Amino acid sequence: MSLSKPNRSTATGTRTRAGDDVMPTSGMCVVCVQGCTGLCEVGMSAYRGAEVIYPRPFGVVTAAGDKDYPVDFSHLSIMGTAFGAHGVPPDPDEAVFPAVNLETAIGRDKGIKLKLPIVIPALGSTDIAKNNWAGIAIGAAISGIALTIGENICGMDSNAEFKNGRVVRSPDMEMRIKLYRDWQEDGYGDIIVQANVEDTLSGVHEYVIEELGVTSVELKWGQGAKDIGGEVKVSELERALQLVDRGYIVLPDPRDKGIVQAFKSGAFKEFERHSRLGMPDRESFLNRVEQLRRLGAKYVFLKTGAYRPADLAKAIKWSSEAGVDVITIDGAGGGTGMSPWRMMCEWGIPTVYLASLAYQYAKRLSEKGEYVPDILIAGGISLEDHIFKAIALGSPYFKGVAMARAPLCAVMVGNTIGELIRKGELPKSIRDNYGNTIEQIFISAMQLKERFGDRFEHIPTGAIGLFTYLQRIAQGLRQLMAGARKFSLEYLTRDDLAALTREAAEVTGLSYVMELDAEEVERILDSG
Ligand code: SF4
Repeated sequence: MSLSKPNRSTATGTRTRAGDDVMPTSGMCVVCVQGCTGLCEVGMSAYRGAEVIYPRPFGVVTAAGDKDYPVDFSHLSIMGTAFGAHGVPPDPDEAVFPAVNLETAIGRDKGIKLKLPIVIPALGSTDIAKNNWAGIAIGAAISGIALTIGENICGMDSNAEFKNGRVVRSPDMEMRIKLYRDWQEDGYGDIIVQANVEDTLSGVHEYVIEELGVTSVELKWGQGAKDIGGEVKVSELERALQLVDRGYIVLPDPRDKGIVQAFKSGAFKEFERHSRLGMPDRESFLNRVEQLRRLGAKYVFLKTGAYRPADLAKAIKWSSEAGVDVITIDGAGGGTGMSPWRMMCEWGIPTVYLASLAYQYAKRLSEKGEYVPDILIAGGISLEDHIFKAIALGSPYFKGVAMARAPLCAVMVGNTIGELIRKGELPKSIRDNYGNTIEQIFISAMQLKERFGDRFEHIPTGAIGLFTYLQRIAQGLRQLMAGARKFSLEYLTRDDLAALTREAAEVTGLSYVMELDAEEVERILDSG
C-alpha cells in the first residue's frame, strides 16, 4: 500500500481527472487522456514548470506533507492508572486535574521559565509569519511561552541598513523583538533569534546581542519540512535585485534581460529567494557557540531537522561538548510557510522515529556522564496528546515541544474572526451560537480583559486566538496527566506510554501494550 498521494494535492492546487482511479506509485490517472488540460502536478508542470513545486498561494498558507508514515503518535497510547498520585498527595480533593503543574524551565541553568512546555520555533521571513507577527508575538508572550524569530529577517528587511556586508539596523527585527517583550510578564518566556548561513555572514547574532539586548540565540542546521535552506517568494523586481545584492540565490535570475522581459509581460509574477546550505563541522560549531557566549548570549539553541541518524548523533554530541542549552529536533512531517511540496512529503526521518533515536543517543551520553542539553521535539505536533506523548517518549531528556503551524493557525483564525466582527460579516453559525462581540465569541477574552485592563484593546484578536487555543491545550494536557496520575511534567516517564503495534514498539523501544506490566501482573495474580 502506498504511503503517499503523489501528483495531486490541495497544497499545489492539483487534482486528477480520474479522481481516485489513479496508479498508486505515479499518482497519475489510470487513463491519461489526450485533451486533458493538465489538472495534476505532472500536467500543470507542462506549462508552469518549477512553479508547481511549491504549495500555493504563497504568503497566506502554511503546509505540511500528507505522507502517512508507518508509525506516528497515534500508534502510542497513554497509560492511565487508578492508583496513587505523583506530585500531589493521593487525596481525591487534592489530586484534581486543575492542580497539574505545567510550568517548566529550560536551558542549562534552567533560566528560561515557561508556563507551558511549548516553544514556538523559528518563524522567519515568509509573508505568513510577518503578516501575523503581532498575533504570534503578543499571544506567545501573554501565554508565557518562548518564541523564536526565524532566519533571514534582516536580509529580507528592505529598510535594513548594512555596512561592509554586516547588518547595523533592521526595523523589522526591532519590531519583532519589541512586540514580544512589550507583553512579556513575570519573566516567563523568552525571545530567541535564529541565524542561518546568510544571517551568520551578515552578523545578525552580533547585531541582536549587542544592539538589541537579545540573550538567547539559535543556530540553524535544518528543519523538518525540507533539507535545503529557507525559501520565500517576492513579487517586485526591485526586491529581487536587492536580495541578489544581499547575497541570496534568486530564481529566475532578475539580472537576466530575458527574465526581466518575461516578468514584465506577466509570464510569471514571483521570484523565488533561496538560502544556502549550511556546512557545519565540529570545530566551527564549537567555536561559534563559544563566540556567541563571549558576545553575551546566555542561552544558545540548536535547531536541527529530519536528517539521517549520524547527523542527529553529531547534533546531540557536539551540542553536549559545546554546552548548548537546548536542541530543537524537527521531524519529517513538520510544517512550513514555503518548502518544495514533494520534498516535504518524501524526505527525512518522521517525528516519532527521529525522537526515538534522539532518546537513545541522549541516554547513551547521559550514561557516560556527559551533559545532555534539554531537547524539544517538533514535527506535526498540534494537540495535547501529542505533547504528552512527545515529552514522555524521551523522558527525562525531552523537556517540551516546539510548535509553529498549529499556533499560527490559531492566530490566523483569531484574526479572521476579529476582521469579520469589525465588518459585521460573521457567519450565522458563529453569531447564533456565540454572539457578535469579541467578548462573547472568544471564551478567554474576559479573562484577558480582567488581566490587562485598558491594554486589552491593544491585543489583536489573533493573539487572543493563540492564547485561547493554548488554554485549551493546557486544560487537555492537565486532564491527560491527571489520568496518568502525574501532577507535574517531571513525573512523566516512558512508562506512561505503550506501543499499540509491534512495529511501534520496535521503533520507539516502548513496551508493546500486551506485554506491559507483565511482571507486576504475574505477582498480582499469583499473590495470596
Ligand atoms: S494530465 Fe493525465 S494524469 Fe494528469 S489529470 Fe490529466 S489525464 Fe490525469
